[in-house]
Amino acid sequence: CFDALHGALGDCSCNVDTIDYFNNVKIFPRIQSLVSKDYFRFYKVNLKKECPFWADDSRCAMKYCHIKTCSKESVPGFENDYENELEEEPPALKYSQEAQTPCNSDADHDPALGYLNMTLSVASQFEIAKWKAYDDSVGNFCDCDDKDAEAEYVDLSLNPERYTGYKGTSAHRIWRSIYEENCFRPKVNPYKSFPYVLSSDLGNMCLEKRVFYRAVSGLHTSINIHLCSKYLLSEKKLGFAAPPEGEWGPNLAEFQRRFDPSQTFGEGPNWLKNLYFVYLLEMRALAKAGPYLEREDYFTGNPVEDEETRDAIRNMLGVIYTFPDHFNESSMFNGGSPAAKLKQEFRDHFWNISRIMDCVGCDKCKLWGKLQTQGLGTALKILFSGQWDSFDEEAEKGRIVLRHKAHKRLQRTEIVALFNAFARLSNSIRELENFRNMLSSHTDGQ
Ligand code: FAD
Repeated sequence: CFDALHGALGDCSCNVDTIDYFNNVKIFPRIQSLVSKDYFRFYKVNLKKECPFWADDSRCAMKYCHIKTCSKESVPGFENDYENELEEEPPALKYSQEAQTPCNSDADHDPALGYLNMTLSVASQFEIAKWKAYDDSVGNFCDCDDKDAEAEYVDLSLNPERYTGYKGTSAHRIWRSIYEENCFRPKVNPYKSFPYVLSSDLGNMCLEKRVFYRAVSGLHTSINIHLCSKYLLSEKKLGFAAPPEGEWGPNLAEFQRRFDPSQTFGEGPNWLKNLYFVYLLEMRALAKAGPYLEREDYFTGNPVEDEETRDAIRNMLGVIYTFPDHFNESSMFNGGSPAAKLKQEFRDHFWNISRIMDCVGCDKCKLWGKLQTQGLGTALKILFSGQWDSFDEEAEKGRIVLRHKAHKRLQRTEIVALFNAFARLSNSIRELENFRNMLSSHTDGQ
């Protein structure tokens, strides 16, 4: 599986080995320490937003989904939801054939695993009140769901991304809807079901559409690597109401099932390469917005911690600037009005994907799914909105001028999502190294 991973990555001049070294040695320790700081630890998110595409099936993803309230739940027609709830009509939005499927008995995961710890210490509640006042006092860039009345702060450190047992119909409906309805598809795959897209067909697509697919697939890879590297190895029940205490660790067999070419129609190594690809994309966004990010306040109300955070940001960005082979977004969306139309479609498709996250039927998966799509969305905005281009040029010349500052302002949640999403990708690449080592000692031992 890993033999195929060396060498060229495709769609950029970079190769896998360069990224492995750069990430594992230079980026990984820095970004992990950075996201443990208070500013990045608390993410404001609305996990109660209704799924706009099909009837909420969150209980269907739970172990006891077959109870009658779930199977009898009314399924509103998609068109009604669509007209009532969406102001803007995204062209890529399509009715999911599965929308009227009742709960399915193969969705049997343990609800306790997807349990979300919403605890915030008194100290952090106090800090958050100060941040809120501060955030409200500055202009915001876009309308994210952190403004929703139902949005809440979640302490990411108390809710690590790991195996939750979310699978079956509900999880597949999300991924299928993403690939089949909201990615640009080369053509319908002959196997009808899995894999949704065959990498061998990607060559027939233009660069922009390929980039879109590879970014989404890379995100999918990262999520699945995390559930393999923090798999539930054993479980101790502590009592009726308390969540069980688990022992978490890497599961090599699970990793092989998901990425070995012989078990994935040959796609596993391509999916792994897509992880590196989306990593490059997000890293380029950080570099491009770097001069701006270096000047953010990272305000939490604790001057000492804030200064440390700013130092850590400058230090990490300084390392990122030295990366020799950054993704080159300037070759994309060139060519007049067809390119502008394509860019609009690109944005609309991504917008849909971010809304599909409201349909994820496991709270913890939804939390990390939303955070990582928002992080990727922020990266795409930095790369393709055009607002950061002149900024970048001036930074390169050493003349950093904050022109149109109000438009360039990122919201706090966007910054938190951007760095945390990148930290997840960095962690996945690091975890791959662990699996690689496990695999070679496993093979040596045979
Ligand atoms: P899936 O991962 O469900 O994939 C479905 C099909 O997509 C595969 O059969 C394959 O053909 C194709 N595919 C797989 N990987 C790729 C790729 N990288 N690129 C392109 N195509 C691919 N589970 C957890 O335990 N913890 C989590 O935190 C978690 N978070 C999730 C977040 C979201 C947004 C979603 C939708 C799901 C999440 N899940 C999580 C569930 C997890 O991703 C899988 O769906 C689940 O484990 C079932 O896996 P599977 O083997 O059936 O294949």
